[in-house]
Amino acid sequence: MEYDNRYQQVQMPQYDCLLFDLDDTLYPLSSGLAAQCSKNIQDYMNQKLGISKEKLSEICNLLYKNYGTTMAGLRAIGYDFDYDDYHSFVHGRLPYEKLKPDPVLRNLLLGLPLRKVIFTNADKVHAAKVLGRLGLEDCFEGIICFETLNPKNKDTISDDEEDDHQTKTFDIIKYFSEASPQSVLPKTPVLCKPSEAAFKQALKIANIDPKRTMFFDDSVRNIEAAKHMGLHTVLVGTSQRSKGADFVLESIHNIREALPELWEANDKSDVKYSSGKVAIETPVTA
Ligand SMILES: [Mg+2]
Repeated sequence: MEYDNRYQQVQMPQYDCLLFDLDDTLYPLSSGLAAQCSKNIQDYMNQKLGISKEKLSEICNLLYKNYGTTMAGLRAIGYDFDYDDYHSFVHGRLPYEKLKPDPVLRNLLLGLPLRKVIFTNADKVHAAKVLGRLGLEDCFEGIICFETLNPKNKDTISDDEEDDHQTKTFDIIKYFSEASPQSVLPKTPVLCKPSEAAFKQALKIANIDPKRTMFFDDSVRNIEAAKHMGLHTVLVGTSQRSKGADFVLESIHNIREALPELWEANDKSDVKYSSGKVAIETPVTA
C-alpha cells in the first residue's frame, strides 16, 4: 500500500485545480465593498420588498445564517423578485473604484501551472467588474457564479401570485423566537455556497476532482462545507485556523510562501498536467 501511494505521488501532482472564491478572497475585506454591499441589501429589502427598517438587521442575519445568502433566504421565506434587479441594485452601486489592479497577484496566478476557476455566489456582471478592476480577467479558466447555478426563470413565481406575495411570507423572526417551532423552515430555490448541492453542482460543471483541488475562501462556513466535500481548503483573510481549514492565509498574496507545493508538485513531476482542461459554460464577460 505504501508503495502504491509513493508511486502515485511521483507520477501525478497532488493538485491539478485551484478553486477561488472572489469577494474578500482575491481582494481584502478592507476595500469596503462588503460593508457597502450589506447596506445595499438592507436598502433593497426596505425599499423594494417593504420590510420595516427595525427588522432589517435581524432578518438579514437570520437569512444569511440559514440560507447562505440573504437573497436565497428572501426567496425561501416567500419574497418574489427579479434576480437581475436584485443584483443590479445590490452590486450595481458598489464603489468598484476602490479596487486597484493587483499585478503581484496576477503574476502569482499566471505562474501557477494548475487549472484556476472562480466559484462565487455573486452574479456574473459583478464578477467580471471585480476581476477587470483587479486586472485578473484573463487569469481564470472560467467562473462559476450565481447564473451558472441558477439558470434564468427556473423558479420564478407566476405573475398572478405576485400581487399578494407580501401576505404569504414566512415569519423567520417568530420561528427562531419559539422554543419548539410549530412550522418547518422553508427551503430556498436558490443554489449557493455553502450548500452541499451547490458544491456538488459546481464541481460537476467544472469537472473538478475535489481530492486534487485546493479551495480558497474567506468564509469559515464555506471552508467547512468544502472540507466536507473532500476539497483541500485554505481560509483566506485571517491568521486564525478554523474547523475545516487545512491552511490559513492572511492575504492571498502569501500563497507562494504558504503553499510552495502548488509550484513544486509540478516541477518534480514528469507527468504533464492538464490533459483534461474543460471549458466552463459561463464565460468571463462584462
Ligand atoms: Mg467571500
